[in-house]
Amino acid sequence: MDKFTYQNPTSIHFGQGQIAAITTAIPKDKKVLVIYGGGSIKQNGVYEQVANALEGFNWGEFSGVEPNPQYDTLMQAVELVKTEGYDYLLAVGGGSVVDGTKFVAAAACYQGEDPWHILLKQEPVTHVIPLGCVLTLPATGSESNGGSVVSRGKDKLFFGSPLVRPAFAVLDPQTTLSLSPRQVANGVVDAFVHTMEQYLTYPVNAKVQDRFAEGLLHTLVEEGPKALATPDDLAVRANIMWSATQALNGLIGVGVPQDWTTHMIGHELTGNYGIDHARTLSIVLPAVMKVRRKEKEAKLLQFGERIFGITSGTTDERINAAIEHTIAFFKQMGVPTSLADVELNEKDIDVILASLERHGMVALGEHQDITLPISREILNTAL
Ligand code: NAP
Ligand code: FE
Repeated sequence: MDKFTYQNPTSIHFGQGQIAAITTAIPKDKKVLVIYGGGSIKQNGVYEQVANALEGFNWGEFSGVEPNPQYDTLMQAVELVKTEGYDYLLAVGGGSVVDGTKFVAAAACYQGEDPWHILLKQEPVTHVIPLGCVLTLPATGSESNGGSVVSRGKDKLFFGSPLVRPAFAVLDPQTTLSLSPRQVANGVVDAFVHTMEQYLTYPVNAKVQDRFAEGLLHTLVEEGPKALATPDDLAVRANIMWSATQALNGLIGVGVPQDWTTHMIGHELTGNYGIDHARTLSIVLPAVMKVRRKEKEAKLLQFGERIFGITSGTTDERINAAIEHTIAFFKQMGVPTSLADVELNEKDIDVILASLERHGMVALGEHQDITLPISREILNTAL
């Protein structure tokens, strides 16, 4: 196991009715800007609960943050924050709203030439407006991590800073009951792939991290299909919600190698073709498993055995079975597993590779040896 320093200061308020906790989670003297998306929170009662909890606060709102939050929209929120003097941000929605709010928090305090450089040039974030969130879509882990993904045209770029990690996150599984089956499936698949990208590398004798990751994978494989079959089962939603947070709050990723190839190639698929984030991951991950089967052999065998009970056959047969089970799980969740499933073909691979190159994604993976030719092989395998 590699050395690490671990800290996750986000307070989690989990369970039914916990939106009320924001009353005490936000300091009373703050001027709060509530940031949300296209209006789902107005239909499922979340907005009303937030408004009730903010009674007595000086607060305003900014709506219209899109899925895959757009830079230009977020810069409108930055203007509002500056002109109205907001000094606390409350994100209410899915990962896009939380990510977008993180960018607003950083961009509103940015002193440099162009806030886009926070994403494009990875300019360091030194000051932010404090933020908290009410999460309504379990998927990204953004509610308790320091990462954010923002889009501008065809560029979908990441920035990370411990300063934008939310001070608190409300996770009330009840709020997820209004999700469409497509968004439920997307969330489960995103959380599954986050876990895999911190697990499916090579062994470093990190037994705790491995078993935490396997616990999450197990839960997602078991509960994901149940959430589609019995959508009003709150216990299922609760388990999915807590899994998604744990999958990317830093804990399972400490001291272990990581391979974010699937996410990096996936971002280019969303940037160029507008495919839902999770649906890019279910296309790319099986191909990464196939192309990197040698490099990942030991963990593929462990994954197959511990998650799907695959114990017999040759090494090759066991790895094939592990990949097939993963694809079958994705199919069960109703997400695409090939480029053909989203009507893309060979010609599109050049477009994706050009974007990877433009964004400097030329040395991916746990060994930084996934060069553009290997990314091409992965995409060819995903056809
Ligand atoms: P999302 O883009 O936040 O939301 C997708 C859709 O779900 C929106 O139309 C939203 O509608 C709706 N929705 C959200 N909650 C709902 C509810 N309770 N009931 C009904 N509809 C609801 O989805 P996401 O998967 O959470 O976030 C995806 C983004 O996160 C991508 O940009 C991805 O790249 C990024 N991401 C970030 C991280 C990270 O660590 N920061 C990790 C992985 C992915 P409204 O707009 O009307 O609310
Ligand atoms: Fe993701």
